[in-house]
Amino acid sequence: MANITFQGLGKVYPGGVRAVEGVDLEVEDGEFVVLVGPSGCGKSTTLRMVAGLEEITDGTLRIGDRVVNEVAGKDRDIAMVFQNYALYPHLSVRQNMAFPLERRRAHGGTVRRLIVPGYRRAAREEDQEIQAEVSRAAEVLGITDLLDRKPGALSGGQRQRVAVGRALVRRPAAFLFDEPLSNLDAKLRVEMRAELKALHDRLGATMLYVTHDQEEAMTLGDRLVVMDGGRVQQCAPPREVYEQPANRFVAGFVGTPSMNFLEGEVADGTMSIGEARLPLGDAAAGVPRAVVLGLRPDRLRLAEPEDPCALEATVAGVEDLGDRCDVRLQVGHAELVARRPAGELSRWTVARAAARVAFEPAEALLFEPGPHGARIH
Ligand code: ADP
Repeated sequence: MANITFQGLGKVYPGGVRAVEGVDLEVEDGEFVVLVGPSGCGKSTTLRMVAGLEEITDGTLRIGDRVVNEVAGKDRDIAMVFQNYALYPHLSVRQNMAFPLERRRAHGGTVRRLIVPGYRRAAREEDQEIQAEVSRAAEVLGITDLLDRKPGALSGGQRQRVAVGRALVRRPAAFLFDEPLSNLDAKLRVEMRAELKALHDRLGATMLYVTHDQEEAMTLGDRLVVMDGGRVQQCAPPREVYEQPANRFVAGFVGTPSMNFLEGEVADGTMSIGEARLPLGDAAAGVPRAVVLGLRPDRLRLAEPEDPCALEATVAGVEDLGDRCDVRLQVGHAELVARRPAGELSRWTVARAAARVAFEPAEALLFEPGPHGARIH
């Protein structure tokens, strides 16, 4: 296993599209790092540069101690698992899993056949080694009883396991995953997510994983690398990304429903949003005049008379989600969502058109203006 080091990594596609810019990242040996961001943010390009599928335009990439910018993908000692599994339909699961090892052997084989006496015996031993490797991987993934089936006779989840198995047999220095679960239905995705996490814990392997699904990223990663516009917006453990987002983009990307944002102005520790005056106390001490207030939907509630931080809102709709409800609110021009326990459903329905909503000043985050405005500490 090995660490992967990015230094100022960048990619400009022919034609001038700058897909990735200035990525600095150290994936530690044995770490599970998830690249996450919206479509087009450059996460696949970044992964493909590690896999050797895209040329690196700027910066340096190291796997272990070796600079691999100019090393062909097949010689980088990494294994990639794709979204579409890329299994050979005419080969059995066993043959599919053995394939990377057979290919490796074929490369060295011709030479050996000419120069090594006792080649046949060596080949037989190699055969046995490959089969042992396949059996080991199949056992780890719980697919031993599927080894003689063809991919066509497998469910999506089983195919995904085989694809992982094929990566596993190579015992690579690092595993790369490109949206490996996005073709599965929601329930299976959650199951496979848990399996991958368990597999990582068991193997202690270095894993670099790409997804656009922030929930998948939060549950899988030791660390998340949140990207937008080809740049890293934040790199931190999931909890830190959630609680201390580096900027407004990260704050809005992580969490469901998304964080609410309200634009306003601060003076002497009080934020003005339209007619409302919100005494934010210490949180707003010495901050610039124009700010953006960020509030998680589950932190927004119906106001009590004594609440200092309250806003007049219009209830635009209430969605009953069974164990909870999402309340859509309009505050001035801003649309907010409050996520509340189902027990409050009737209180919000009674509130109908008008409601006073409140939050704890300590739970509000402040950002500089603009879609990527930095969080103000
Ligand atoms: P993501 O994986 O986050 O969806 P990509 O890495 O695939 O994003 O793409 C990043 C940017 O690079 C996008 O603007 C995309 O249109 C562009 N891009 C991707 N592949 C190519 C290519 N082969 N040629 C030109 N532009 C590309």
